[in-house]
Amino acid sequence: MKRRQWIIRVLILSMLGAAAYAECDANAQRLVRAYPDRLKECRDNRIVWRDGTRMIYDDGKKKSFDSLLNQADIEDMFHFRYPKGASGYSRSRGPSKNYDPGRIRNEKFFRKMYGDSATEVRRHLTRIPWLPRSTHGRYRITVTRINGVDRALAAVSRDLDRLVAREPSMKKYLVPIGGTFMWRSIAGTHRLSVHSFGAAIDINVKHSAYWRWNGKHYRYRNEIPLSIVEIFERHGFIWGGKWYHYDTMHFEYRPELLDVGKRAPVSVKSARGVQGQKARNSPPNSLEQIKELNDGRSF
Ligand SMILES: [Zn+2]
Repeated sequence: MKRRQWIIRVLILSMLGAAAYAECDANAQRLVRAYPDRLKECRDNRIVWRDGTRMIYDDGKKKSFDSLLNQADIEDMFHFRYPKGASGYSRSRGPSKNYDPGRIRNEKFFRKMYGDSATEVRRHLTRIPWLPRSTHGRYRITVTRINGVDRALAAVSRDLDRLVAREPSMKKYLVPIGGTFMWRSIAGTHRLSVHSFGAAIDINVKHSAYWRWNGKHYRYRNEIPLSIVEIFERHGFIWGGKWYHYDTMHFEYRPELLDVGKRAPVSVKSARGVQGQKARNSPPNSLEQIKELNDGRSF
């Protein structure tokens, strides 16, 4: 009998624990603000789309790093805070282990946003010139019109053209590009790359570095200048060079992680007693936080 009571008690406690959702927190509001054409609001722990679709925001589950990558809910996409500008930038020193801001994605969310198949994504694609001033109109790129990604990338291209006019040595990083739209999985995984949705661009592969190219021994490297990264970030694109699993040619449209044009304080959730909570919304800057992140068990 005693044992049965104990089991019931554990069950009730775990149900209470599971109910401690983030609900619609500041990050949910960021998401809605970032995609006003498609998202209406966050209500009762659901992201409500303009067409009436509802998606769970926070599933309340505690996740390992691997399950964050493979079973992320929408709330998990904010797990690591993306450091804007110079703060997360380096030529030689990478982020602490597994610190991958923006690499955690809920695939259902992206499929709903940009298209559930290559055919569906293609319906929204358009071609725009890439650095027309610096290259005499030689290059065109294929991107989605959804969320105005085409306009955002045209603005990036205009600013990069100006940068190249001032500093011609910048051109080699930007053309020829590695690619934009391609329906494919991320190397070594079953997860779709953001290239599948026409919302990502790889700049010149020749001057880029990718964590998998190093073989067994991890070493961070980067050649891409900060001035290029800052232009992309200004228009809503995050950079793969700020990931522990770095990909320095890669930029993708993720305005929710940049709060483009707005400055709102980042909230630290207290609802879910997850170990390593403090490290979640700020880049690791103390030794304790880095240790916590390296521990691996906390996420
Ligand atoms: Zn890429």
